[in-house]
Amino acid sequence: MLTALLLSATLVSAETPILPPLIPWNGASRSLVVAKSDPWITPSEAGDLKTTPRYDETVAYLQRLVKAAPQLKMVSLGKSAEGRDVWMVIASKEKNFTPQTIHGKPVILAQGGIHAGEIDGKDAGLMLLRDLTVRGTKRDLLDRVNFLFVPIFNVDGHERFTKYSRINQRGPEVSGWRTNARNLNLNRDYMKADAEEMQAMIRAIDTWQPDMYIDLHVTDGADYQYDLTYGWNGQAGHSPAIARWLDTRYRKPVDDALRAQGHIPGPLIFTDDPLAGVASGQSDSRLSHGYGDARHIASILVENHSLKPYDQRVLGTYVFLEQTLRTVGAEAASLREALTTERNRRTASVPLSWKVPDNGLAEQVDILGIASRKVLSPVSGDVRVEWLGKAVSGKAPFQKATEVATSVAPARAYWVPAAWREVIAKLDLHGIRYEKLSAPREVEVTMVRLLDPKITSAQFEGHARVTATEKPERRRERFPAGSVRVSTDQPLGTLATLLLEPSSPDSLFQWGFFDSILSPTEYVEGYIMEPMAEAMMKEDPRLAEEFQKKLQSDEQFRGDARARLQWFYERTPWYDERARLYPIGKEE
Ligand SMILES: [Zn+2]
Repeated sequence: MLTALLLSATLVSAETPILPPLIPWNGASRSLVVAKSDPWITPSEAGDLKTTPRYDETVAYLQRLVKAAPQLKMVSLGKSAEGRDVWMVIASKEKNFTPQTIHGKPVILAQGGIHAGEIDGKDAGLMLLRDLTVRGTKRDLLDRVNFLFVPIFNVDGHERFTKYSRINQRGPEVSGWRTNARNLNLNRDYMKADAEEMQAMIRAIDTWQPDMYIDLHVTDGADYQYDLTYGWNGQAGHSPAIARWLDTRYRKPVDDALRAQGHIPGPLIFTDDPLAGVASGQSDSRLSHGYGDARHIASILVENHSLKPYDQRVLGTYVFLEQTLRTVGAEAASLREALTTERNRRTASVPLSWKVPDNGLAEQVDILGIASRKVLSPVSGDVRVEWLGKAVSGKAPFQKATEVATSVAPARAYWVPAAWREVIAKLDLHGIRYEKLSAPREVEVTMVRLLDPKITSAQFEGHARVTATEKPERRRERFPAGSVRVSTDQPLGTLATLLLEPSSPDSLFQWGFFDSILSPTEYVEGYIMEPMAEAMMKEDPRLAEEFQKKLQSDEQFRGDARARLQWFYERTPWYDERARLYPIGKEE
C-alpha cells in the first residue's frame, strides 16, 4: 500500500515538477513583445515566451537578422567539443566590427547559456538585437555603446534538449543541460580552461577587451519576491575602483528601470531563508564574475529567479540589458576612469579569500520575501520548508564578506621553466605577457618547498584538488632557454599571481597541473643506508640526539622501519635536492 502510494506520487512528480505557488505578474515590460504578425518575431515570442528555440533555429534567426541589419555582424569564437560554433553577434552603429576599431565607445559583452538550461539571456538578447536594429525602437542605444552578445555559450549542453533539465525552474517547457558535452561546468573553468568552449571565450575576452562582462543565469534555492538578482565582487576584491563604480553609478539606474517596467530587482541571494538574513561573498576567479574582476573588467553575475515564469524572466533580462546599455553609454567616462585606474594599479597584496568581519555589525536591509512554514518531513526525517506563495517583507541582516582573510604578496616576476609547456600555454591563452629566454639564464629567486601535500580523493571538475604548506628558500636557479619571465607589472599581473601562486585556490598548482613533482623518484637500499646512518650519528652527535628525540616523540615513526631509514636518507647529499620543489621561481 505504502509502496503503491509512493510509486504513484513518483510518476506524477516526474511529469510535472511540484513548484511552490506563483504570485501572478503582469509587468509593463509585456509591451516589449511584438505582435504575432511581426516579421521579426523571435522564436520564443512566437511560443508566447513559454518556449526557447534550438541551436539551429537560434542561429538561423540571427543570420537572417544580421543580413537585414547593417549594424550587426556574427563571428564564431571557436568550436565546442562536439564541433558547434560558439557564435557572437557584434552590434555597432558605425560597423566597427574588429577588435581594433570597436573601442571608440564602451564595449559590453553579455553571454547567455553558460548553464544551458538557464537560457533566459538568449531569448532576451534576440529581442533586444532586433529592437536595436531592424525594428529600431531602441536604435539610439547604439549611439553610445557597442554590444557583443553570445546567445548560447554552452552550445553542446544546449542541445541536450529535454523537459527534464531543470527541476527547480518554471520554464521554458524544454531546455538544455547545465554542463558541456564532457560534463564540465563552464562556470568553474575560467582559470584552468579545460573546455574548448571556455578557451574560445577567454580568447574572445582577451581579443575584444570588453569594458563590461555580463553572465546571465537562473537561480536555484530559496523563494522570494525578486525576479532578477544581480551583483559583483565588492570593493575588497581585485578591482575596488570598478566595484565602486558599479555600486554608485550603475545599480540605481538599473534597479529603477526594472521597477518601472514591473520587475523586482534584488541582490544575489545564496541563503536558504532570506528573511533570516542574506550574505554576499566574493567569487573565486574560476567563475565568470570573479575572473572578470581579476582581469579588471566590470563583471556582473545575473541570476533570474527560477520560480518565476519564463516570460517574466526573459522580459526582466531584456530590461536589464537595455538599461545596462543606456547607463554604460551615459557613464562612459566614469567607467573608463575606473577601468584605467585598475589596469594601472599595482598591488602589494593579492587577496585569496575573504570573510565577514568578526566584530562587524551586519547592516539591516529590507528583504522582499515569501512566507514559508517548516514542517517535519517523514521523507527526510528533518524539517522541510514549504513556500506559501504570499509576499512578506522584513528587515534582515546582510552579511558581507568585506574583509580579506588570506592574501599573497605578488612576486616582481614569476619564472616558469621551459619544461612546463602547458602552464606557459595557459598564460598565452589568458593573454598574460612574458619575456621568453632565448638562452639559459641564472637568476636569484625565492622558491617554495611543498610540505605535506594533500590531494583530495574525490575529483572536482575533472581534477583532484591539491594543497600544500609552503616553505620558502632562496636559490640561484638556472632557467633553460624557452623559460619565461612573467612580470606582474602589467594589467594582468593579478591574474598571473592567481594562476602561479600555489596558495591561490585557482592556481594551476591547486588544479593539479604540477602533481608530478609531488612523487619521490629515487630511493635507497637498506643495506646502504644502515651503515651510513651509523656513520652519520657517530660524526654528528646532535643528529643522533635528534633521531632519539624523534623516536621517543613519534610512535608511528618508531614503528616504521622504512621511515626511519628515509629520515637519514633525506639528510644525505644523495637525497633528491629538488624533491617537492615547486618549479616556479619568484623574483622579488
Ligand atoms: Zn547558472
